[in-house]
Amino acid sequence: MNPVTNLSADEIPKQWYNAIPDLPGVLPAIKDPDDGFSRIELGKKIRPKVLTDQDNLEESWIDIPDEVLEKYLQVGRPTPLQRAENLEKYFDTPAKIYFKREDVLPCGSFKLNTSLAQAYYSKREGFDTLVTETGAGQWGVAVCMSAKQFGMDAKVFMARTSYRHKPYCATMMKVFNGEVYESPSSITEAGSKLLKEDSEHPGSIGTGISDAIETASKNLGRFAYVSGSNLPHVLLHQTIIGLETKKQLDKLSITPNALVACVGGGSNLGGFFLPFLKEKIAKKSDLQFMATESESVPRLTEGKYQYDFGDPAALTPLMKSYTLGHEFVPPKIHIGGLRQHSGSPIVGFMRHKKILDALAFSQSEVFEAGQLFLQHEGILPAPESCHAIRGAIQLALDAKEKNEPKNIVFCLSGSGWLDLNSYKKVLF
Ligand SMILES: *Cc1c(COP(=O)(O)O)cnc(C)c1O
Repeated sequence: MNPVTNLSADEIPKQWYNAIPDLPGVLPAIKDPDDGFSRIELGKKIRPKVLTDQDNLEESWIDIPDEVLEKYLQVGRPTPLQRAENLEKYFDTPAKIYFKREDVLPCGSFKLNTSLAQAYYSKREGFDTLVTETGAGQWGVAVCMSAKQFGMDAKVFMARTSYRHKPYCATMMKVFNGEVYESPSSITEAGSKLLKEDSEHPGSIGTGISDAIETASKNLGRFAYVSGSNLPHVLLHQTIIGLETKKQLDKLSITPNALVACVGGGSNLGGFFLPFLKEKIAKKSDLQFMATESESVPRLTEGKYQYDFGDPAALTPLMKSYTLGHEFVPPKIHIGGLRQHSGSPIVGFMRHKKILDALAFSQSEVFEAGQLFLQHEGILPAPESCHAIRGAIQLALDAKEKNEPKNIVFCLSGSGWLDLNSYKKVLF
């Protein structure tokens, strides 16, 4: 059997899926604190209007603009669905393990699915520069590439630890002519304040958000602030992943028993799982949704379900999700990505409604899973994706113990070629 299932260009989904109307209850709204400073209004000024509208949609299906579809095809969508036959044999499991190959996109991750859309909308509304934050760097690279594709400039605030541990990501952004700053940044007020408290502040996605929002708000109308995760419009664009996967599983006549994804802000998970939400809720099958995260940043397994800001300077609105607190900084030894203190309200709500399971793994377990995947399948996964692989292995071992022929599908969210330094640090 051919282990790879492809879709042709004309089979690419033409619409994104908005899951909010199909959630089991009313999603808690994004809101402002009571201090008189409206972050929601600020957000409307620094983002293309259509993106704010897409956070509050009532319709379930949204046409993908032709210009974005064209870019999706140019970057290699639809991506393949592949079976990990060698890994199955190695574990001697009756389970079948499939993975969706978002690692084959240029820039090495699924992030282009939304950065291309956000760049297109920003350009259409007259902005000339994209401003954003990045944690591990893949989002920054995707934004710099997308800006170039639509003739725009890009400015990226990158968490200082990642900037130092993953110099090649910053280099790649610069090759796209993007401007990259270490975060916390001395060119912003928010950044300078954090640097005064700790001149070696390691930075985080949160500090980058503070830097980027402040920069965009000082250049209204020219700089569009774009987000790589958390917000409903990001998950909306990412549903292309799950919609393609569904078509591919249908071609194989396979009903999945478990979907597995790693979770940082929750966008690859949301984009991959949400197109399967209706059948999960209708209980037509025993479909399990499994989120995997790091023991160092255990927001879904140990965080609290409550309103919180997305950044330490409290410039974002309040969103309800599982959080470790907006001043949380991951331990310095943590180099496996997935560093966010909180995340997507949709993903948090699914967890709260008990339709999302979660497992946390240690850094060594995660990188060892990546090493096994490379050895058996010949594909080098991003450290974030190794969390999903570790989760899929766990489910395959459970299936072996119970002798159940389960179909397990995970999202291979990205490639690890720019992360070899992290592999070296953890494994050797
Ligand atoms: C950004 C990223 C993630 C985590 O982000 P989510 O928004 O949680 O999906 C996971 N894997 C890779 C390769 C990434 O680049």
